[in-house]
Amino acid sequence: MSDIQSSKLIPPGSTIGILGGGQLGRMMVLQGTPLGYQFITLDPATNAPCGQVSQQIVGRYDDPQAAEMLASQADVITYEFENVDADVAALLEQKSYVPQGSQLLYTTQHRLREKRAIEAAGATVAPYMEVRSAAETLQAVQQFGTPCVLKTATGGYDGKGQFVIRNEEQAQQAYDELSVAGTELVVEQFIHFQCELSVIAARSSNGEIKTFPVSENVHVDNILHLSIVPARVSAEIQQRAEQMAAAIAESMNAVGLLAVELFCTEDGQLYVNELAPRPHNSGHYTIEACETSQFEQHVRAICGLPLGSTALRSPVVMVNILGEHIPAITEKMIQVDLSTTSLHVNPKYHLYGKEEAKHKRKMGHINVLCHNIEDALAWIDQTNIWRHE
Ligand code: AMP
Repeated sequence: MSDIQSSKLIPPGSTIGILGGGQLGRMMVLQGTPLGYQFITLDPATNAPCGQVSQQIVGRYDDPQAAEMLASQADVITYEFENVDADVAALLEQKSYVPQGSQLLYTTQHRLREKRAIEAAGATVAPYMEVRSAAETLQAVQQFGTPCVLKTATGGYDGKGQFVIRNEEQAQQAYDELSVAGTELVVEQFIHFQCELSVIAARSSNGEIKTFPVSENVHVDNILHLSIVPARVSAEIQQRAEQMAAAIAESMNAVGLLAVELFCTEDGQLYVNELAPRPHNSGHYTIEACETSQFEQHVRAICGLPLGSTALRSPVVMVNILGEHIPAITEKMIQVDLSTTSLHVNPKYHLYGKEEAKHKRKMGHINVLCHNIEDALAWIDQTNIWRHE
């Protein structure tokens, strides 16, 4: 596990190796290059989004030879997804400098371990119970009431590996459907939240911690649709959410970014839902809206540079561009957009260079900078691109 004693300075000019060549790696390269770093990524896909802007080794993530090649060419190694193969993580730690360590990955790869770590940091999660059979699932449903949610402990993302149980009769079906995954299962009480929030904390290898402004997140079909900043909750709730994220990052001895997703109830209670030890979609707004982007901050944190200011420069709404939005987005980008002047908004487009615009695939995002949130939401609405949602 990384600790402050093992921190070392990776000076500008050094090479950062990134396991994974998707959009998160790509933006890390685009934001880290001005600091003077060079980048190399490992990804199985030729012409990966990150490979387009850095050197790339084409190879599988779980291929020890490819991992070794990455280690030999990089002064420091990071990753852009959390499901890093445990053997590869160990090998990289042995062969190179991995300031984030493998402990944080080990914890966040597994919902039960993650919940225990969140509780150990003094934060609250939705009441939960590990279940090993349909009978135990029914017991949990009876204890928590309906609806409640059955989740796989590993491998779930964007709502996959989840079953919302709406009545006791569904306990068996839910267990049958999710137990085929062959991982532990957990039943969670359903939180009737007013909104979903997230906070991205950065902790540097020398122990410095900073948090970014709280984002209010709107999901459609379990995929992030909007991030609204400032979040439309009280300053007191925002402060509490930021303190919670910092406490979790500190308690877990995290290095680099740690995204903390929360449910916020009407009476202001905060429950941590999930953690991600990497740049997060709900932090893309920081690229133009904050003094320092989450990507630059991550590079600073793993290289042991002082962290940058996280102050908000402008209110912003981030809207995700999925595969089905690409034709309309292209049309929008090639035309002069007069509505930006009348609404006083400044939409900043980010496309990830993915070749195939598959349905629901994250292809890019727009950071709609604005004077007030309503103007940005009105601009998004007027484009008609996301109307059906
Ligand atoms: P997750 O994969 O855990 O991030 O869950 C995906 C989405 O499902 C969340 O963003 C929530 O909208 C919803 N969800 C998950 N767990 C719960 C819960 N315990 N109570 C209410 N909604 C939930």
